[in-house]
Amino acid sequence: MHELGVVIEVVKTVEEFARENRVTRIGALVLQIGELSSIVPRYVEECYPAAVEGTLLEGTELRIEVLPGNVRCECGRVYRLLASEKVCPSCGGGRWELLGGREFLIKEILAC
Ligand SMILES: [Zn+2]
Repeated sequence: MHELGVVIEVVKTVEEFARENRVTRIGALVLQIGELSSIVPRYVEECYPAAVEGTLLEGTELRIEVLPGNVRCECGRVYRLLASEKVCPSCGGGRWELLGGREFLIKEILAC
């Protein structure tokens, strides 16, 4: 589980941003995680309270938006890779190009 290290990096980034922008109170943090990224949202949620303890983010709400892992098949069909068991629902092909789903982004820092 490498999520704790990832969350600690996020906390550092947010604290830096807050310092630079003179933000002293944060209500919620919104992360976007692609469903094909190596980061598991559930683990992020689990380690969040420990990772933010003693930081500016202590007591804040964590919101996670999962971004779909979409691919485009050789036949042109765009589909969600995990929902289709990695096979194109139109032609049955297994060759595709990735359109999105590996993201890991700090989307928003919301004030109280
Ligand atoms: Zn296809």
